[in-house]
Amino acid sequence: MRITFNGAAQVVTGSCHLVEVGGIKFLLDCGLFQGSEELEELNPKLTFDPEEVDFVILSHGHLDHCGRLPYLVKRGFRGKIYATSGTIDISRLILMDAAQVQEEQLKTVNRRRLREGKRPRELLYTLDDVFDTFHLFRSCEYHRWYSVGPVKFRFLDAGHILCSESVELEVEGKRVVFSGDIGNRGKPLIRDPEYPHRADVVIMETTYANRKHKSFEESVKEFKEAILSTFERGGVVLIPTFALERAQDILYILKKMYEAGELPPCKVFLDSPLAISITQTFRRHPECLEERVLRELRERGDIFNFPYLEFTRRVEDSKRINDYRGRAIIIAGNGMCTGGRILHHLKHRAWDERNAIIFVGYQAEGTIGRQIVEGAKKVKIFNETVAVKLKVYTINGFSSHADRPQLLDWVRRAAGRDSQVVLVHGEKPVMEVFAPDVMREVGARVFMPELYTSLTF
Ligand SMILES: [Zn+2]
Repeated sequence: MRITFNGAAQVVTGSCHLVEVGGIKFLLDCGLFQGSEELEELNPKLTFDPEEVDFVILSHGHLDHCGRLPYLVKRGFRGKIYATSGTIDISRLILMDAAQVQEEQLKTVNRRRLREGKRPRELLYTLDDVFDTFHLFRSCEYHRWYSVGPVKFRFLDAGHILCSESVELEVEGKRVVFSGDIGNRGKPLIRDPEYPHRADVVIMETTYANRKHKSFEESVKEFKEAILSTFERGGVVLIPTFALERAQDILYILKKMYEAGELPPCKVFLDSPLAISITQTFRRHPECLEERVLRELRERGDIFNFPYLEFTRRVEDSKRINDYRGRAIIIAGNGMCTGGRILHHLKHRAWDERNAIIFVGYQAEGTIGRQIVEGAKKVKIFNETVAVKLKVYTINGFSSHADRPQLLDWVRRAAGRDSQVVLVHGEKPVMEVFAPDVMREVGARVFMPELYTSLTF
């Protein structure tokens, strides 16, 4: 069995691993490189001919795991794409959004590239390629074994986002585990990650393998205090957030605050069409919800709605929020303030010291979000300089990824002395700290493959 790493190798994006075994080829994930122009330029590069790939096993609907599927199809892939039905629903929404965003951004990007003397970039895929991808999806249940040629596989709940999966495989008498992204325990809506059985080859993510998260409860407490003190100042709260999972976690926490009488009368705007669609997806997939939440859904028919909540799908409704003068919480994408409606809200509200911005997710270097977190007094939004006087809160414990202790706990069960552990989906310095831990804890051999290299087992 040979595995070639076409993404998420010494980097946290572009997850795509080609497995060649017994005359067949399949992919574990086919995700998009994101985060910088250098990384994005890697997207068209593949070490294999997509026409020769027999099938894909997809771990979840984040763009860095599913975002190159339409490109694969555009290049001739016609096999099946296996995932849970929830992952399929989410991937559909995420891919349609991605194609639209790419089309919108390409003109601006290419105008700038021409000025810089660079070659214009080609569209990776269109909405038509996305639609051509949809009929290849095949829905699978958790825990049930499926066979494709010499490969047997089954999905476990990875507890990362709604309906996300870790994959156990049996190939040529070897047990292989692909972690997908491993979730952070104790999240409000979805179940905790399941542990796989001990395997011969373990491919695992290492996003936060060098840090320990704050507890969820502590983070919720900080979050509540930030909202209440902003309201006491007469200000408005902005929450930049990703449309998938974090937005729903935040909605659920606000609803619980409302039910406990802890949230003063206000408006809560969910100002993101994609987040609104994904919130509806949660209602369609009760099979992926935590038992307590599932009971709530059955008893009350809903888990998100409360009287203060307003969905603003249309652009006109979003613009109207600018004139709203009462107490308000505005949840909008995107999570790192690199685009989307949050930029309009920042432009209108950042100069007013009564307001606040609460960061509930990671802010990558070079983003407006990161500049604000690091104390910038001014930021550039739509070519306009905006004073940053609003209060800035950063909440660390809402992560969807397992931290170092949780990852060690996971690998202790997945790997033993005779196993071979492949670290992926992590920055090199982070993996270099984690690798000796894995060797010490489980005694396994550990690999940190470079991009486009192969390992044979
Ligand atoms: Zn993910």
